[in-house]
Amino acid sequence: MQSKFIIGIDLGATNVKIGLLDSKGKILKKVNLTTKSFPGRLKLLAEITRTVHNILQEKKLHAKDIIGAGIGLPGPVDFKNGIVDYLPNIPGWRKFPIRKWFSLRTGIKTFVDNDVNLVALAESRMGAARNAKNAVCITLGTGVGGGVIIDGNIYRGSSFSAGEVGHMPIAEKGPKCNCGGRGCLERFVGNKYLLQKARGSFGSSISLERLAELAKKKNKKAIAIWQEAGRHIGVALAGVVNLLNPDRIVIGGGVANAGKVLFDEIENTVKSLAMPTQRRTVKIVKAKLTDNAGIFGAMFLVKENTD
Ligand SMILES: [Zn+2]
Repeated sequence: MQSKFIIGIDLGATNVKIGLLDSKGKILKKVNLTTKSFPGRLKLLAEITRTVHNILQEKKLHAKDIIGAGIGLPGPVDFKNGIVDYLPNIPGWRKFPIRKWFSLRTGIKTFVDNDVNLVALAESRMGAARNAKNAVCITLGTGVGGGVIIDGNIYRGSSFSAGEVGHMPIAEKGPKCNCGGRGCLERFVGNKYLLQKARGSFGSSISLERLAELAKKKNKKAIAIWQEAGRHIGVALAGVVNLLNPDRIVIGGGVANAGKVLFDEIENTVKSLAMPTQRRTVKIVKAKLTDNAGIFGAMFLVKENTD
Protein backbone atom coordinates (compact mmCIF):
# COMPACT_ATOMS: atom_id res chain seq x y z
CA MET A 1 0.00 0.00 0.00
CA GLN A 2 1.26 3.47 -0.86
CA SER A 3 1.77 5.92 2.00
CA LYS A 4 -1.07 8.39 2.06
CA PHE A 5 -1.22 10.10 5.42
CA ILE A 6 0.62 13.11 6.82
CA ILE A 7 1.40 14.27 10.37
CA GLY A 8 1.25 18.04 10.89
CA ILE A 9 2.63 19.53 14.11
CA ASP A 10 2.35 23.16 15.17
CA LEU A 11 4.66 23.60 18.15
CA GLY A 12 3.93 26.90 19.89
CA ALA A 13 4.95 28.53 23.17
CA THR A 14 1.40 28.03 24.52
CA ASN A 15 0.04 24.95 22.73
CA VAL A 16 1.25 22.10 20.59
CA LYS A 17 -1.27 20.99 17.96
CA ILE A 18 -0.76 17.58 16.43
CA GLY A 19 -2.86 16.47 13.48
CA LEU A 20 -3.21 13.39 11.29
CA LEU A 21 -4.31 14.31 7.78
CA ASP A 22 -5.13 12.33 4.67
CA SER A 23 -3.47 13.24 1.38
CA LYS A 24 -6.43 15.47 0.46
CA GLY A 25 -5.85 17.61 3.55
CA LYS A 26 -8.70 16.36 5.70
CA ILE A 27 -7.86 16.35 9.41
CA LEU A 28 -8.69 12.84 10.66
CA LYS A 29 -7.52 13.37 14.23
CA LYS A 30 -6.23 16.31 16.21
CA VAL A 31 -4.68 16.46 19.68
CA ASN A 32 -3.73 19.62 21.61
CA LEU A 33 -1.04 19.67 24.29
CA THR A 34 -0.25 22.49 26.72
CA THR A 35 3.41 23.36 26.16
CA LYS A 36 4.08 24.42 29.76
CA SER A 37 2.82 21.09 31.14
CA PHE A 38 6.00 19.50 29.75
CA PRO A 39 8.89 21.67 30.91
CA GLY A 40 12.16 21.09 29.11
CA ARG A 41 12.76 20.22 25.49
CA LEU A 42 13.05 16.47 25.94
CA LYS A 43 9.88 16.10 28.06
CA LEU A 44 7.91 18.03 25.48
CA LEU A 45 9.34 16.08 22.57
CA ALA A 46 8.75 12.77 24.36
CA GLU A 47 5.08 13.70 24.83
CA ILE A 48 4.72 14.76 21.18
CA THR A 49 6.28 11.48 20.04
CA ARG A 50 4.04 9.49 22.39
CA THR A 51 0.98 11.34 21.05
CA VAL A 52 1.95 10.57 17.45
CA HIS A 53 2.37 6.87 18.34
CA ASN A 54 -1.04 6.88 20.06
CA ILE A 55 -2.72 8.48 17.05
CA LEU A 56 -1.18 5.90 14.69
CA GLN A 57 -2.21 3.07 16.99
CA GLU A 58 -5.76 4.38 17.27
CA LYS A 59 -6.07 4.64 13.47
CA LYS A 60 -4.33 1.28 12.97
CA LEU A 61 -1.53 2.91 10.97
CA HIS A 62 2.25 2.36 10.91
CA ALA A 63 5.15 4.70 10.20
CA LYS A 64 5.32 3.33 6.65
CA ASP A 65 1.76 4.58 6.00
CA ILE A 66 2.88 8.15 6.66
CA ILE A 67 4.29 10.20 3.77
CA GLY A 68 6.03 12.52 6.22
CA ALA A 69 5.71 14.71 9.29
CA GLY A 70 5.93 18.51 9.15
CA ILE A 71 6.78 20.54 12.25
CA GLY A 72 6.42 24.31 12.61
CA LEU A 73 8.41 25.99 15.39
CA PRO A 74 8.32 29.58 16.74
CA GLY A 75 11.82 30.78 15.89
CA PRO A 76 14.52 30.63 13.21
CA VAL A 77 14.72 27.10 11.81
CA ASP A 78 17.29 25.82 9.30
CA PHE A 79 14.84 24.19 6.93
CA LYS A 80 17.57 22.50 4.86
CA ASN A 81 19.39 20.78 7.72
CA GLY A 82 16.43 20.46 10.08
CA ILE A 83 18.00 22.39 12.93
CA VAL A 84 16.31 24.84 15.32
CA ASP A 85 18.58 27.83 15.86
CA TYR A 86 16.76 28.94 19.03
CA LEU A 87 13.18 29.58 20.19
CA PRO A 88 12.82 33.05 21.80
CA ASN A 89 9.85 32.01 23.97
CA ILE A 90 10.77 28.39 24.82
CA PRO A 91 14.13 27.91 26.56
CA GLY A 92 16.51 25.03 25.89
CA TRP A 93 16.33 24.58 22.11
CA ARG A 94 19.55 26.21 20.92
CA LYS A 95 21.02 24.44 17.84
CA PHE A 96 18.78 21.42 18.25
CA PRO A 97 18.64 18.95 15.31
CA ILE A 98 14.91 18.32 15.60
CA ARG A 99 14.45 16.68 12.20
CA LYS A 100 16.98 13.96 12.94
CA TRP A 101 15.70 13.49 16.50
CA PHE A 102 12.08 13.13 15.46
CA SER A 103 12.63 10.91 12.42
CA LEU A 104 14.91 8.54 14.36
CA ARG A 105 12.31 8.06 17.08
CA THR A 106 9.25 7.74 14.88
CA GLY A 107 10.61 6.26 11.65
CA ILE A 108 8.76 9.04 9.80
CA LYS A 109 10.44 11.28 7.24
CA THR A 110 10.42 14.74 8.85
CA PHE A 111 10.47 18.36 7.61
CA VAL A 112 10.72 21.44 9.82
CA ASP A 113 10.23 25.16 9.31
CA ASN A 114 9.35 28.38 11.08
CA ASP A 115 5.71 28.41 12.22
CA VAL A 116 4.67 31.62 10.48
CA ASN A 117 6.35 30.47 7.25
CA LEU A 118 3.98 27.51 7.41
CA VAL A 119 0.96 29.72 8.13
CA ALA A 120 1.92 31.80 5.06
CA LEU A 121 2.30 28.61 3.00
CA ALA A 122 -1.15 27.39 4.06
CA GLU A 123 -2.79 30.76 3.34
CA SER A 124 -1.06 30.74 -0.04
CA ARG A 125 -2.27 27.25 -0.99
CA MET A 126 -5.80 27.19 0.42
CA GLY A 127 -6.54 30.45 2.23
CA ALA A 128 -6.60 34.22 1.80
CA ALA A 129 -3.46 34.39 -0.38
CA ARG A 130 -4.63 31.74 -2.84
CA ASN A 131 -3.69 32.65 -6.42
CA ALA A 132 -1.40 35.44 -5.19
CA LYS A 133 2.07 35.13 -6.71
CA ASN A 134 3.72 37.28 -4.05
CA ALA A 135 2.23 37.58 -0.58
CA VAL A 136 3.16 38.60 2.93
CA CYS A 137 1.40 37.11 5.92
CA ILE A 138 1.52 38.67 9.38
CA THR A 139 0.17 37.24 12.62
CA LEU A 140 -0.78 39.57 15.44
CA GLY A 141 -0.52 38.01 18.89
CA THR A 142 1.81 38.09 21.88
CA GLY A 143 4.47 38.30 19.21
CA VAL A 144 4.05 39.75 15.75
CA GLY A 145 5.20 37.17 13.20
CA GLY A 146 5.61 37.28 9.47
CA GLY A 147 6.02 34.98 6.48
CA VAL A 148 6.87 35.90 2.89
CA ILE A 149 5.80 34.08 -0.28
CA ILE A 150 7.77 35.02 -3.42
CA ASP A 151 6.81 33.50 -6.78
CA GLY A 152 4.61 31.05 -4.90
CA ASN A 153 7.34 29.76 -2.59
CA ILE A 154 8.38 30.54 0.98
CA TYR A 155 11.20 33.10 1.01
CA ARG A 156 13.48 32.07 3.88
CA GLY A 157 16.46 34.41 3.53
CA SER A 158 20.18 33.66 3.85
CA SER A 159 20.01 32.17 7.35
CA PHE A 160 16.37 31.07 7.40
CA SER A 161 15.02 34.02 9.35
CA ALA A 162 13.40 36.32 6.76
CA GLY A 163 9.92 37.76 7.17
CA GLU A 164 10.16 39.27 10.64
CA VAL A 165 7.67 42.05 9.98
CA GLY A 166 7.13 42.39 13.74
CA HIS A 167 10.75 43.42 14.18
CA MET A 168 10.83 46.11 11.56
CA PRO A 169 11.71 49.32 13.40
CA ILE A 170 9.01 51.96 12.95
CA ALA A 171 10.49 54.52 15.37
CA GLU A 172 14.19 55.32 15.42
CA LYS A 173 14.19 56.30 19.08
CA GLY A 174 11.34 54.01 20.12
CA PRO A 175 11.24 51.68 23.14
CA LYS A 176 13.61 48.71 23.41
CA CYS A 177 12.32 45.37 22.12
CA ASN A 178 12.93 41.80 23.35
CA CYS A 179 14.77 41.02 20.12
CA GLY A 180 17.56 43.44 21.02
CA GLY A 181 16.30 46.12 18.66
CA ARG A 182 14.46 49.35 19.30
CA GLY A 183 11.12 50.73 18.14
CA CYS A 184 10.01 47.43 16.53
CA LEU A 185 6.40 47.10 15.33
CA GLU A 186 5.83 44.34 17.91
CA ARG A 187 6.80 46.74 20.69
CA PHE A 188 3.75 48.85 19.73
CA VAL A 189 1.11 46.32 18.69
CA GLY A 190 2.04 43.06 20.47
CA ASN A 191 -0.88 41.96 22.73
CA LYS A 192 0.92 42.98 25.92
CA TYR A 193 1.53 46.53 24.71
CA LEU A 194 -1.96 47.01 23.29
CA LEU A 195 -3.36 45.82 26.59
CA GLN A 196 -1.19 48.27 28.53
CA LYS A 197 -2.60 51.06 26.41
CA ALA A 198 -6.18 49.84 26.90
CA ARG A 199 -5.71 49.62 30.68
CA GLY A 200 -4.74 53.26 30.75
CA SER A 201 -8.21 54.16 29.48
CA PHE A 202 -10.45 51.34 30.75
CA GLY A 203 -8.82 49.91 33.89
CA SER A 204 -7.10 46.60 34.58
CA SER A 205 -10.04 44.30 33.78
CA ILE A 206 -10.17 45.21 30.08
CA SER A 207 -9.34 42.48 27.52
CA LEU A 208 -8.54 42.92 23.84
CA GLU A 209 -11.80 41.13 22.94
CA ARG A 210 -13.70 43.64 25.07
CA LEU A 211 -11.72 46.50 23.51
CA ALA A 212 -12.83 45.27 20.07
CA GLU A 213 -16.48 45.09 21.23
CA LEU A 214 -16.29 48.63 22.61
CA ALA A 215 -14.95 49.90 19.29
CA LYS A 216 -17.80 48.19 17.46
CA LYS A 217 -20.19 50.04 19.83
CA LYS A 218 -18.53 53.31 18.75
CA ASN A 219 -16.65 53.97 21.98
CA LYS A 220 -14.31 56.78 20.98
CA LYS A 221 -11.40 55.84 23.26
CA ALA A 222 -11.48 52.24 22.07
CA ILE A 223 -11.64 53.34 18.43
CA ALA A 224 -8.64 55.62 18.99
CA ILE A 225 -6.54 52.73 20.38
CA TRP A 226 -7.32 50.49 17.41
CA GLN A 227 -6.70 53.30 14.95
CA GLU A 228 -3.32 53.98 16.50
CA ALA A 229 -2.47 50.26 16.25
CA GLY A 230 -3.67 50.29 12.63
CA ARG A 231 -1.41 53.23 11.81
CA HIS A 232 1.62 51.49 13.35
CA ILE A 233 0.92 48.32 11.36
CA GLY A 234 0.26 50.38 8.23
CA VAL A 235 3.60 52.19 8.52
CA ALA A 236 5.48 48.88 8.65
CA LEU A 237 3.39 47.42 5.83
CA ALA A 238 3.93 50.45 3.59
CA GLY A 239 7.65 49.62 3.80
CA VAL A 240 6.92 45.96 3.04
CA VAL A 241 4.75 46.94 0.06
CA ASN A 242 7.45 49.21 -1.38
CA LEU A 243 10.17 46.62 -0.84
CA LEU A 244 8.44 43.48 -2.11
CA ASN A 245 5.56 44.70 -4.32
CA PRO A 246 3.24 41.88 -3.17
CA ASP A 247 -0.26 41.36 -4.56
CA ARG A 248 -1.65 40.25 -1.20
CA ILE A 249 -1.06 41.00 2.47
CA VAL A 250 -2.80 38.59 4.84
CA ILE A 251 -3.36 39.64 8.44
CA GLY A 252 -4.17 37.00 11.05
CA GLY A 253 -3.94 36.33 14.78
CA GLY A 254 -6.35 37.28 17.57
CA VAL A 255 -5.95 41.04 17.15
CA ALA A 256 -7.13 40.80 13.52
CA ASN A 257 -10.60 40.11 14.95
CA ALA A 258 -10.85 43.79 15.88
CA GLY A 259 -12.24 44.04 12.35
CA LYS A 260 -13.08 47.07 10.24
CA VAL A 261 -11.79 49.78 12.58
CA LEU A 262 -8.30 48.23 12.46
CA PHE A 263 -8.29 47.18 8.80
CA ASP A 264 -9.57 50.56 7.55
CA GLU A 265 -6.75 52.35 9.32
CA ILE A 266 -4.11 49.86 8.09
CA GLU A 267 -5.39 50.27 4.54
CA ASN A 268 -5.56 54.07 4.70
CA THR A 269 -2.05 54.27 6.10
CA VAL A 270 -0.61 51.94 3.44
CA LYS A 271 -2.44 53.85 0.70
CA SER A 272 -1.13 57.18 1.97
CA LEU A 273 2.51 56.09 2.46
CA ALA A 274 3.30 53.43 -0.15
CA MET A 275 4.45 54.26 -3.68
CA PRO A 276 1.68 54.53 -6.32
CA THR A 277 2.47 51.45 -8.44
CA GLN A 278 2.90 49.13 -5.46
CA ARG A 279 -0.13 50.42 -3.55
CA ARG A 280 -2.43 49.97 -6.55
CA THR A 281 -1.50 46.29 -6.77
CA VAL A 282 -1.77 45.19 -3.16
CA LYS A 283 -4.89 43.85 -1.44
CA ILE A 284 -4.93 43.71 2.35
CA VAL A 285 -7.14 40.90 3.63
CA LYS A 286 -7.93 38.99 6.79
CA ALA A 287 -6.52 35.48 7.20
CA LYS A 288 -8.92 32.68 6.27
CA LEU A 289 -7.41 29.77 8.15
CA THR A 290 -7.57 30.17 11.88
CA ASP A 291 -6.80 27.47 14.39
CA ASN A 292 -5.42 24.86 12.00
CA ALA A 293 -3.29 27.06 9.73
CA GLY A 294 -0.03 25.71 11.22
CA ILE A 295 -1.10 22.08 10.77
CA PHE A 296 -2.17 22.70 7.16
CA GLY A 297 1.09 24.52 6.45
CA ALA A 298 3.06 21.58 7.86
CA MET A 299 1.06 19.30 5.54
CA PHE A 300 1.94 21.38 2.44
CA LEU A 301 5.59 21.45 3.53
CA VAL A 302 5.62 17.65 3.52
CA LYS A 303 3.62 17.31 0.30
CA GLU A 304 5.72 19.76 -1.66
CA ASN A 305 9.02 18.25 -0.54
CA THR A 306 8.21 14.60 -1.09
CA ASP A 307 6.78 14.62 -4.64
ZN1 LIG B 1 12.12 43.54 17.94
